[in-house]
Amino acid sequence: MKAWIFREFGGPEKLVGADVPEPVAREGEAVVEVKAAGVNPVDRSTIGGRFDWIKPPFVTGAEFAGVLTGPAAGLEAGAHVLVNPKLFCGSCYYCLRGQESACLSNSRMSRAPHIIGVSREGGWQERVSVPEENILPIPSGLSFRDASTIAVDGATAWHLVMRARPALNEFALVVGANGGVGSFAVQIARLYGCEVAAVVGGSAHERLMKDAGADHVIDRNAVDVAGEVRRLTGGRGADIVIDPVGSATFEMSSASLAPLGRYATCGTLTGTEAKLSLLHLYSMQVEYIGSTTFSRSDTLGAMKAMAEGKIRPLIDSVHPFSELPAAMKRLGEHGRAGKVVLDYA
Ligand SMILES: [Zn+2]
Repeated sequence: MKAWIFREFGGPEKLVGADVPEPVAREGEAVVEVKAAGVNPVDRSTIGGRFDWIKPPFVTGAEFAGVLTGPAAGLEAGAHVLVNPKLFCGSCYYCLRGQESACLSNSRMSRAPHIIGVSREGGWQERVSVPEENILPIPSGLSFRDASTIAVDGATAWHLVMRARPALNEFALVVGANGGVGSFAVQIARLYGCEVAAVVGGSAHERLMKDAGADHVIDRNAVDVAGEVRRLTGGRGADIVIDPVGSATFEMSSASLAPLGRYATCGTLTGTEAKLSLLHLYSMQVEYIGSTTFSRSDTLGAMKAMAEGKIRPLIDSVHPFSELPAAMKRLGEHGRAGKVVLDYA
């Protein structure tokens, strides 16, 4: 069967098409025939060598959906399933509380997400064996393509916004709002009753962001974001700042916080270090909140909301599985808005 593998770390050019053996399901696992997959920044990091303990050749691909090739997880063969990529033990302190995002079985907790596509091979192949407990049924009416966008980005955004504890009539600022996580975060914050301002770089995505439910769109290249947030909130600031971008936007996000505001991040795409003022922290009574991956409840919450039409994926482009390198290239392009998705014929 066909797969995209990398034999050494590097850029997208390291991905090569290969014929690989059919997967054999180990005990407690089942084989999924992949129908749609995302191309995610985490996949690019994996290929790029950020997780340098991985031993190539390796097949990544963290977000995918497909059909069961045999009965598993209480479902029939042929069932449409989403593979929750978060690996978890099911028995630790956190798993027993339904908080698999913090599962203690991740021996590299402070360095990497413990997910399919990183800790074991992922979905950039025609069929893949996965643990049965990672298989979730897709509600009827939801396509493989749309469901696949939840596996990483939709679930990550759900967990991230929940970590920030949105409340009715609060003001939420979403930075990187045109990205995969950001575009979901805009909609989820709105769903929880927030007035939402979407921060984007440039004016190209204003219409898209409004369509996604943003009440305001702020071009960070044109205006001072913190100043604009104060203007929109009568001088108060944002109750919630959702910022998956990383160190490049930390200062701006921090300066946008209202008293008692909560900043939440899930990513370091632009760097891992940021300077935190303790004076600002205590005098403004703000909270800085970390978020990584998601628990099954997040994935199920996002899938239910999508099946009910309350959130929808912002899809930038769809590429055939055979054209993965072009899809990878698109992921890195400046004008991208939302998800880059692969269709498996
Ligand atoms: Zn656990």
